Amino acid sequence: MPDLGINGLKLFSKSLPKTSYANENLPLSGKTIVVDAGHGGSDSGTLGLMTGIREDVLNLEIATLLESNLKKMGASVVMTRTKEITEALRNERKLSFEERGAIIEGSDADMMLSIHQNFNEDSSKIKGVQILLRDKEYLDIATQFQNTFNNALGTRLNIIKDQYAVLSFGNQPSFIIECGFLSNAEDETNLQTKEYQEKLVDILCDEIQKQLK
Ligand SMILES: [Zn+2]
Repeated sequence: MPDLGINGLKLFSKSLPKTSYANENLPLSGKTIVVDAGHGGSDSGTLGLMTGIREDVLNLEIATLLESNLKKMGASVVMTRTKEITEALRNERKLSFEERGAIIEGSDADMMLSIHQNFNEDSSKIKGVQILLRDKEYLDIATQFQNTFNNALGTRLNIIKDQYAVLSFGNQPSFIIECGFLSNAEDETNLQTKEYQEKLVDILCDEIQKQLK
């Protein structure tokens, strides 16, 4: 290294990245992920069979945990809905698909995950995490997410492919994560505990990291 002198040293130290070196080594550095907490405002989504817990409340709790974990892993996270938005809309209206869509399309994201809770009208026995997708090209990723959750939870659920509106925005792989069935007593109880929410978010984050490598 040449002798830089005082001015040179100043210039040199200015150009040194301060914290970005550590950040670049985080598993999701440079990745942007949209987290969409489904429903909200006047739209509760489905309701728990036993306790009447609102789906939109659970969605936001899990989405917020996911946001925090993804940020710790180095990702930039864009939320379509936060506590503040939800409270402002509570008695007025729901967040429209257009509003969610504008946020997703403006994010230039690497992945979009829409957090929801399931309900099965026909059986109270069905439980577990289920992955929904729209585009065939992301079938492999969706299958991988589903297999990982099935293995972790001892379930045998299948992915569902359909024309889900929220998955139509942007060009990134997009999935709906149905975190559990509010028609199943065990899921309904577990989903209301921080421990189970964290368990699901940890599994999801591990898999996101693998898929976005
Ligand atoms: Zn929903």
